[in-house]
Amino acid sequence: MEYTEIMVRYGELSTKGKNRQEFIARLGGNIRKALHDFPEVVVHPNRDRTHVTLNGANSTEVIDRLKKVFGIQNFSPMLKVEKTYEAVQQGAISMLKEQLEPGMTFKINTRRQDKGFEMNTDMMNRELGGFVLEQFPESKVQVKNPDIIFRVEIRTNGIFLTSEIIQGAGGLPVGTAGKGMMMLSGGIDSPVAGYLGMKRGVEMEMVHFFSPPYTSEQALAKAKELSGKLAAYSGNVQFIQVPFTEIQETIKENIPEGYLMTIQRRMMLRLSVALAESRGGMAIFNGESLGQVASQTMESMLAINDVTTMPIIRPVVSMDKTEIIEIAKDIDTYDLSIMPFEDCCTIFAPPAPKTRPDLERTRYYERRIDVEGLMKRSLEGIKISNVRAGETFMNENEDVFAELL
Ligand code: ATP
Ligand code: MG
Repeated sequence: MEYTEIMVRYGELSTKGKNRQEFIARLGGNIRKALHDFPEVVVHPNRDRTHVTLNGANSTEVIDRLKKVFGIQNFSPMLKVEKTYEAVQQGAISMLKEQLEPGMTFKINTRRQDKGFEMNTDMMNRELGGFVLEQFPESKVQVKNPDIIFRVEIRTNGIFLTSEIIQGAGGLPVGTAGKGMMMLSGGIDSPVAGYLGMKRGVEMEMVHFFSPPYTSEQALAKAKELSGKLAAYSGNVQFIQVPFTEIQETIKENIPEGYLMTIQRRMMLRLSVALAESRGGMAIFNGESLGQVASQTMESMLAINDVTTMPIIRPVVSMDKTEIIEIAKDIDTYDLSIMPFEDCCTIFAPPAPKTRPDLERTRYYERRIDVEGLMKRSLEGIKISNVRAGETFMNENEDVFAELL
């Protein structure tokens, strides 16, 4: 079925009184970004609804894109027809033949904005209901909770038909909550955490630490490609790659094994905060989940958090691994995340990290390294790229298991 227009309804937006205008404008902009490669589509944001006029664009593809835009509660694809009863009949047949299966129930629901139209709402409901029954004799009219509500909206510029309400992604339009820095590894958890932050309106910049030659080009490409998956929810994201080799080597040489990981994490956090400060970020996001691995105890969080007062938001902190995996599959990051390219932490991970690092000792050991100098050199080497929705970076010809051999 080729529709002509899509009517988008807002969710939580409606409760946000004075921010409403900004939210609606931002959502309109995000919808345009999501549909950037459909130049014929026109987006009209209004107070109560946003109308997306397709002008010939493929409605199935547009619908798929809209399902990923945060801030949309639900939407209805519509068919615009001429202002005649015959056109309504034809439209009803073409739409319902795909949806109204034998035994299903329906009702017609008409709204008439244009009072000049020759049929009033009761007439339309009755006439069209009878006509649909004739065309689909195995269906039934049911007023309470029918399977399909076929809506006829008679407006001045045409008659709009719709019979479906498609669930949107919910949440708040990306960007309305401000900017955050997402610490993105190549693992399962951090992309899910990034997705959840974006869902609450945060514009995420991806910060990825890599350690060549200990980590491969493919590990970096994997993190970038994960960013492309997340960009589907915001149109595009900034990907910031931060060189971490010198820091890891220095830590490895100077710090007792039990504290390697804690101090590495402190350095990562400091660098993320420095990036946030220079780029207008207000919080750091990560993929920590309480108790999942050694670095994710509360003692460990205390010892790592010590380097900053900037909020650290952990969207998956209380989720079980199975729950995180479920979301990762839904957002299509899982298959990529489980590909076997080691990131920098795995490679420098000590065999037995302290699960309960002591804060005073952490600070004491850290004095052995030149924190400022290491940070400065790392920040001088960052590279920032703009990653678009669905962009890929991994080399498909490379044997994914080569690294393991
Ligand atoms: P993930 O599945 O996200 O990799 P994890 O369970 O492997 O998480 P850790 O390795 O302890 O957990 O990492 C905890 C968090 O630290 C990650 O979720 C991520 O936010 C951040 N992090 C770890 N490694 C990197 C990296 N190379 N670049 C950026 N952030 C990282
Ligand atoms: Mg990891």
